[in-house]
Amino acid sequence: MIRRIDLRGAAVPGSAPTDYRRVVPRGAADVDGTIEVVRPIVEAVRHRGVEAIAEYTARFDGVEQTDITVPAEALQQALADLDPAVRAALEESVRRLRATCEAELEQDVTVEVAPGGRVTQRLVPVQRVGLYVPGGVAPLVSSVVMNVVPAQVAGVESIALTSSPQKEFGGLPHPTILAACALLGVEEVYAVGGAQAVAMFAHGAGPCRPVDLVTGPGNIYTVTAKRLVKGLVGIDSEAGPTEIAVLADAAADPAFVAADLVSQAEHDPMAASVLVTPSESLAADVEAELDKQVSATKHVERIRTALGGEQSAIILVDDLEQGLAVVDAYAAEHLSIQCADAATWARRVRNGGAIFVGPFAPVSLGDYAAGSNHVLPTGGCACHSSGLSVRSFLKAVHVIEYDEQALRDVAHHVMVLADAEDLPGHGAAVRVRVGDS
Ligand code: NAD
Repeated sequence: MIRRIDLRGAAVPGSAPTDYRRVVPRGAADVDGTIEVVRPIVEAVRHRGVEAIAEYTARFDGVEQTDITVPAEALQQALADLDPAVRAALEESVRRLRATCEAELEQDVTVEVAPGGRVTQRLVPVQRVGLYVPGGVAPLVSSVVMNVVPAQVAGVESIALTSSPQKEFGGLPHPTILAACALLGVEEVYAVGGAQAVAMFAHGAGPCRPVDLVTGPGNIYTVTAKRLVKGLVGIDSEAGPTEIAVLADAAADPAFVAADLVSQAEHDPMAASVLVTPSESLAADVEAELDKQVSATKHVERIRTALGGEQSAIILVDDLEQGLAVVDAYAAEHLSIQCADAATWARRVRNGGAIFVGPFAPVSLGDYAAGSNHVLPTGGCACHSSGLSVRSFLKAVHVIEYDEQALRDVAHHVMVLADAEDLPGHGAAVRVRVGDS
């Protein structure tokens, strides 16, 4: 069901992560390869707005759409109809995430660099954001929480949210997603999915004004559209089809490891599940567990496709040291460490969207209610990007305040550097204020 990659004997002493980048498994259908499919969708929405959205919605979601806006009554009705147990779970998820977001909200910093001269780093919330909530494969109500809570804690003024229209719900997003929006007080909600939704946010379409920043996870089409509009708007990270890497040794429970690999394979046929281990016996036990567990799950076909795809594998390594280099090279969206002394190994990891330590911090805890965020970079982007957080919705701006004496005190250095760059106008802008002092 899942292939093996044997890297034993391939250890490079003191190896850098890049040494393994070419051998870690990656899916063939990546963002680069999807750009030519997605570009026409983004361009069509840019030029023809809701008319183009309606065409793609009919084609990809099977919904004939007359209005992309979710009415306020539908949001309130969904909340009224919400199963109380789901509401309680959502409230707990919100409470935990809000607690971490509030604690992570950084304060402005002022530094007096010289008498009378100071620089303040001011954190300013982005004015308007477009939040994407996946709804094609499963109604990811948890992604409403993961997007909205940090945006609200950051102080974003204008929040728009979108999710795929569902045929069985009259062309609106799944009612649980609508209920979560109402619970969190989000009023501007659209029934648009995939690349057309990202284009709508970036360029504006019909009732949706353009946003400054698009955040949220999605499938390969959604994440490719984010790459295409990046620059025109900000994006959080390329949070595409889910990945899990488990670094485990013989101390791990194979049933736990297999369940974690299955849990993430359940997201998408393109999801990646990777086990990195020096233990041949753990590898064999996990394979046996996968056979048992997969046939007992609901979404068997989707999971089999994901586990059997070239993006998934069991990687055999000489030891945990080599395993660490491999997981750093892979830079998984979710990295789970299930080996003896897991916390020590976890501290040494450089690249991972989120790191789950030990046997009792499964990735699905983080999907819903750990208090961490589940919108995380995929495709190796964890080596340079962070998961969604309150910081994603803030811009840092330097505010520079100098009095006359403070400018006089540094003027000579400024003029010297201006001359060194052959930009005398720069020096003159100082000289006109303080002379040649
Ligand atoms: P989605 O909501 O992003 O995409 C659904 C939309 O895709 C549909 O509305 C449709 O318009 C469009 N679409 C479908 N087929 C298409 C095609 N052939 N061409 C162009 N557009 C098409 O996502 P989904 O399908 O519900 O899947 C959810 C994804 O989100 C999974 O891949 C999951 O792994 C991922 N995810 C990632 C993270 C993360 O943080 N990285 C977190 C949660 C979920």
